[in-house]
Amino acid sequence: MGEQGPEGGSKTAKKTKRAAGEKAVTERDTVSAAASGTPGKSSAGGARAGKTAAGKAPAKKAPAKKAAAKKAATTAPAKKAPAKKAAAAEGPAGRPVVAAAGRARKPAVVPERTTVDVEGTAPVKTVAGRPPREESRTALVRRARRINRELAEVYPYAHPELDFDSPFQLLVATVLSAQTTDLRVNQTTPALFAKYPTPEDLAAAVPEEVEEILRPCGFFRAKTRSVIGLSKALTEDFGGEVPGRLEDLVKLPGVGRKTAFVVLGNAFGRPGITVDTHFQRLVRRWKWTDETDPDKIEAAVGALFPKSDWTDLSHHVIWHGRRICHARKPACGACPIAPLCPAYGEGETDPDKARKLLKYEKGGFPGQRLKPPQAYLDAGGRPAPPLGAG
Ligand code: SF4
Repeated sequence: MGEQGPEGGSKTAKKTKRAAGEKAVTERDTVSAAASGTPGKSSAGGARAGKTAAGKAPAKKAPAKKAAAKKAATTAPAKKAPAKKAAAAEGPAGRPVVAAAGRARKPAVVPERTTVDVEGTAPVKTVAGRPPREESRTALVRRARRINRELAEVYPYAHPELDFDSPFQLLVATVLSAQTTDLRVNQTTPALFAKYPTPEDLAAAVPEEVEEILRPCGFFRAKTRSVIGLSKALTEDFGGEVPGRLEDLVKLPGVGRKTAFVVLGNAFGRPGITVDTHFQRLVRRWKWTDETDPDKIEAAVGALFPKSDWTDLSHHVIWHGRRICHARKPACGACPIAPLCPAYGEGETDPDKARKLLKYEKGGFPGQRLKPPQAYLDAGGRPAPPLGAG
């Protein structure tokens, strides 16, 4: 479920990943290196000149006073101003509350109000307000929930972007989505499920034949081992059915918490937070948490929301990360939640330039699913093309 363009699989990382990667079809997406701002270092300077003057011998008091007065008249105001700025930019723990390093000198101007009117989709509500500089726990919870509410209006049709007709298909598709796009998986799985419709069929498959089908997904040998392995486990340990409990799902080969929550949330209706690379990047930009470990992020963000919101929240955040708040070039100037975002200005702020960065239906392009839900089509979204069709 990595971040890639709407045109499909990235060619750039494939060569470097291939050697080490065949064994590495793992549960978690790679954490985005561009995900978070580094807290700025506070200046230690400033008071040194005053301390030196105070330590002088009494016999030289008069000249020292004169010198100090002269110095104060010329330098003191210039030193006091940055000290106040630094204090205002820091939170209770001494970390910058709002801005990433560099913005203290030239702060980005967060718009009071902003709108995004994307052709072919439902109109987006105007958002007003701006995040506070020092934020209490209560304020954080309110801001986080407000962001989720706003995103629910931006993406009222948000859904899992993998095509599936059963828990088994969703489980296999989610495992296949490691290190590639959902689009590429959706273009590959129709042939796979046509030939192997059940766990029993896939468990008994000839690996080389499955490999040929899965080749477009990348890491096709390792992925073949994974899906055949988990199909065998489903057949032998769970009567050919996908279990609906987290503790059972994570016992399956190649299945971790992220995959398990995708399946639980979308095939069983059980709330779960999906901490993929987009989710990690966005919640840090929004200062919902400073954690970097996916399990800790899951716990920290889960504590901000009622459990019943978790699955939809995951969709909203991931959809926003894929369409607007990209890893390298977030489209801040076209972002409907900019007034609520501490990282506003990390990306393009010019509205016209930002609009050109939008992806999928927000940019007027097809989505990732070949068979999207009707709500997506009703909102102007378009199905993805089949493999080889463009
Ligand atoms: S696109 Fe910019 S303003 Fe919007 S959420 Fe991302 S960083 Fe914040």
